[in-house]
Amino acid sequence: MISLVGKAALVTGGGRGIGREISLKLARAGADVGVCDIDLATAQQAAGEIEALGRKALAVKADVSSADDVAAMFESFLQAFNRIDILVNNAGITRDGLIVRMKDEDWDRVININLKSAFLCCREAGRPMMKARGGKIINIASVVGLMGNAGQVNYSASKAGLIGLTKTLAKEFASRGIMVNAVAPGYIQTPMTDKLTDEQKQKLLAYIPLQRLGQPEDVAHAVLFLASGLADYITGQVLTVDGGLVM
Ligand code: NAP
Repeated sequence: MISLVGKAALVTGGGRGIGREISLKLARAGADVGVCDIDLATAQQAAGEIEALGRKALAVKADVSSADDVAAMFESFLQAFNRIDILVNNAGITRDGLIVRMKDEDWDRVININLKSAFLCCREAGRPMMKARGGKIINIASVVGLMGNAGQVNYSASKAGLIGLTKTLAKEFASRGIMVNAVAPGYIQTPMTDKLTDEQKQKLLAYIPLQRLGQPEDVAHAVLFLASGLADYITGQVLTVDGGLVM
C-alpha cells in the first residue's frame, strides 16, 4: 500500500484529463495537492474533490509557460503547504500540422507550454527540494518524444526535449535526494485525443499490442509509483505507459 501522507504535491494542468486523475490518485494515497490549471474553474472543481477526500487542496490559475505566473504559483503553493515533495509537470497542448504548413506561433506555443513550463517549474521547485534534501519530479512526456510522429514536429520535439531535461536534472539533483523521471503515455482517452476520428483510433489499435487506448488512470498509477518510496532507487528514467506500442 502506497502512502503519501504528509507529502505536498503540485500538479500542472490538473483540472482535467490525465492531470486531474493524477491529482486525485495522489490525494487518495494521502498527499495534499495543489492543482494548477490555466482554467481556474476546472482546477477548483478538482480541488473540491480532493478536499472531499479529506486532504488539503489549493486551486491555482497559472499559464505555466509564463515565468511570472509560475513564480506566483509557487509563492502561493509554498505559502499554503510550506513544502513541496512532489512536482508533476503535466500541462501540455497539441497544435498539429505538417512542418511545411506550420506557423511559428504553433511551434512556439507548443514548445513553451510543453517544455519551457517544465524548466520554469523545476527551477522554482529545485530550491525548496534541495533545502529539504528530497523530492520527486515527474514529467509527463509522450511516446512520440521517443519515436516521432508525422504531423507533430512541434509536439514530438517538445516531448523529446522534456526527456533530455529529465535526464539532465536527474544528474543535477541526485546528490540532494531528488529523483527526476518521465512518464511517456501512448494514446490515452482524454479531451486531447477526443479530437481523433473513429477511423484514426481504429488504425492506431492495430499498432497497440494490448488492443485498447489507455485510460488516465493507467498513467496516474505510474506517476503514483514514481512519486512513492517504492521508486527511491529510480531516477532519470522514462516509463512508457502505452499498451506495448513502443518496445
Ligand atoms: P488535456 O485533457 O488537454 O489536459 C491538459 C490540461 O492542461 C488542461 O486542463 C489544460 O487546460 C491544461 N493546460 C493547457 N495549457 C496550459 C497552460 N499554459 N498552463 C496551465 N495549464 C494548461 O490533455 P491530457 O490528454 O490530459 O494530457 C496531459 C499530458 O499528457 C500532456 O502533457 C500531454 O501532452 C500528455 N500526453 C497525453 C496523451 C494522450 O493520449 N492524451 C498521450 C501522451 C502524452 P484547458 O483545458 O483550459 O486547456
